[in-house]
Amino acid sequence: MSSLPMLKKRLDNSMARMADCDALVLGGGITGITTAVALQSVGVRTGILTEFVPLQANGEGDRCMVPTGYAMASAYPHNLRVTNLLQISAASQAVFRYLSTVCKSGVEQYRMYEVYEDEPEEAPLSSYRMGFHKFDGTPETLKRTINPPSRPDAEYLWGWVFNTYFADMPRYLAFLWSLFRELGGVVEIAKVNSLDETLSCAAGRPVVNCLGYGAIELVDDSSPATIVRGKQVLVPGAPCLFSPEKVPIAYNYTPPAAIFGRADGKAEYVHFFPRSDGWVLGQTREPGSIDHAGQWQGASAVCDERLLNGCGIPLPIIDLNESILHNWFGCSLTNRRLVGRVGYRYYRDPEGEGVRLGLDIRNRSSIIHNYGHGGSGITMSWGCALECVRIMESASEIKPRGSKGLGALSDLLVELVQQACGSAH
Ligand SMILES: Cc1cc2nc3c(=O)[nH]c(=O)nc-3n(C[C@H](O)[C@H](O)[C@H](O)COP(=O)(O)OP(=O)(O)OC[C@H]3O[C@@H](n4cnc5c(N)ncnc54)[C@H](O)[C@@H]3O)c2cc1C
Repeated sequence: MSSLPMLKKRLDNSMARMADCDALVLGGGITGITTAVALQSVGVRTGILTEFVPLQANGEGDRCMVPTGYAMASAYPHNLRVTNLLQISAASQAVFRYLSTVCKSGVEQYRMYEVYEDEPEEAPLSSYRMGFHKFDGTPETLKRTINPPSRPDAEYLWGWVFNTYFADMPRYLAFLWSLFRELGGVVEIAKVNSLDETLSCAAGRPVVNCLGYGAIELVDDSSPATIVRGKQVLVPGAPCLFSPEKVPIAYNYTPPAAIFGRADGKAEYVHFFPRSDGWVLGQTREPGSIDHAGQWQGASAVCDERLLNGCGIPLPIIDLNESILHNWFGCSLTNRRLVGRVGYRYYRDPEGEGVRLGLDIRNRSSIIHNYGHGGSGITMSWGCALECVRIMESASEIKPRGSKGLGALSDLLVELVQQACGSAH
């Protein structure tokens, strides 16, 4: 184990290598990298200090607990407790819209089906979803029109279909990191053990805290935390599926609770998302917490499991998805490799303030917090990143030097920051 003076020396060395940076971002998950790219694009030289870079440190079956590596990652407007949800969501959607036009970004529009075998409540934020269309009917009737995914034994279906941005995470993260590096961004791999020490090493430069679950201990955050476990299966090499209009398709499918149930007796849904390296089949949303030994304790989904590379996967994630995919496109999982894995979503103060997004003064140093995004960290990333830029502009000596090298993306980010500044006055 490293001694405290050694850790301090390592931190000093990392800080020395980031001496030319105007601002520091702590954390290299989706929140950290989007915040850093947003800062760079308004001309703030930025360094990232992080223990792990997701999908570089953790491969497909890895147990590293950085949630960014596990996101599906659909990015459609949905509810998350965060100040100015609508503005943050709209800004994120505007950036995803632009990125979906950039050929190597890994962001694309998908046609997304949300299907229920029991009548659902209204879809949240439906008026903000693109091409939103509701349907209901027997599977046979709907097959001739909407053609939604369905379970062979389903008798009646309700749901909606819409277009959504989808980030193909291995490609998207690689794209974001190369943008950051192209702009001269510096990354240092190190664990932050003390926030006060880090702030003192930062010597007055603004620091943004994007440490996800790692923030709790460092900032001594006593607000409630729910850790929602998500089990999923990767199917490497499986092909993309397309709508008749040649748009990639994905679904969330909620069967009766007796087929896939949560611990509270409600029905759980399964997901299907194809991406360039194969399919992501999901998933569970099991609420819980992390105990003193660092183990997740919570309310597990109610169903039998199959062990896949040491990970107990609820059977419906495999069997129900397979029967839906077979019924829909004649696809099978036979002869395909299945990789089970488990990730954790950290919801900060889920009944109260939610995401911590704002300025904090500690020992006369300022730090901007941006953490606790639960299951929507990809979806809300750009809006939250731009809010950090806005806060930094209004609270520090740093003034943006104008867009820098990213062309249209910089221009868009600068415009969105200006809009946010306008609406904050
Ligand atoms: C199964 C699953 C499916 C999901 N699907 C979606 C989806 O479809 N759409 C969506 O929007 N979201 C989804 N999410 C949620 C999303 O993944 C998270 O909200 C998001 O990844 C949070 O990102 P973050 O960067 O804030 O935190 P994290 O991903 O936790 O990153 C934190 C970073 O900080 C670093 N760090 C932490 N502590 C320290 C320390 N002490 N010193 C140095 N570095 C440190 C870590 O190494 C990491 O780089 C899903 C999550 C899971 C688990």
